[in-house]
Amino acid sequence: MTYISKLNNAVNTLEAIYTLFDTVMAAFPVACAKQCADCCTCNVTATGLEIAYIHDRLDGRALDDIRVLLARAGQTRRFRPFQTTNGLALACMEGRDADEEENDPSWGTCPLLENGICTIYPVRPLGCRVMMSTIPCRQTGQADMPFPALTIITVFMQFVEHLDAGGVYGNFLDLLEHAGEDVLDCNGLPGKNKIPGAAQNLKIPALMIPPEHIEKTQNLVQSLGALIRV
Ligand code: SF4
Ligand code: SF4
Repeated sequence: MTYISKLNNAVNTLEAIYTLFDTVMAAFPVACAKQCADCCTCNVTATGLEIAYIHDRLDGRALDDIRVLLARAGQTRRFRPFQTTNGLALACMEGRDADEEENDPSWGTCPLLENGICTIYPVRPLGCRVMMSTIPCRQTGQADMPFPALTIITVFMQFVEHLDAGGVYGNFLDLLEHAGEDVLDCNGLPGKNKIPGAAQNLKIPALMIPPEHIEKTQNLVQSLGALIRV
């Protein structure tokens, strides 16, 4: 049985989390618009399960198109995180400093972007969905994200990682090159050894919610907990 077939339920749960995320984030006014895509860089991160989701939901022709786009892009410099979101939460709990990681948008545009449009938009990973700004990024050179939105995004990142605990976390494009392969399951570490810079997803050690947002995020945390049954 492949990693993907083992994870059918998890893939469906992931889709439910994406739907909930899109619903919750619709409450925030954003400047984001079609063909505004400065945030579409080669530095997006994802979990192995999110790649399994893409592989499951797209047909063979769409997957072939992705392979062509990835091959055309070649191996450029990319952000390769060695700490996951839950790894950061764990470090905070243990009083350790967060790892310093280099991430530069000038390393390149996401190869899945064509004419300013994402070619896999309905199945894009959470790392893409969380890109939002109240002011067009082009005006200021960076995203302007309201503090409550940042908290909600962090909570979703933690739950999506928890859902794939033991699996691979890494650069989205690196992982996508292995779509359909068992290496995305790093229980036993095959993925971690084969994919450059891949980290391992962890369970939630504690949610990173500032005290002033605890009450307002209570229902959301309960909904997410019910979805992944924690
Ligand atoms: S996050 Fe910034 S670059 Fe991306 S769509 Fe929104 S405004 Fe545009
Ligand atoms: S996958 Fe789509 S949304 Fe994500 S960075 Fe690439 S083009 Fe943008």
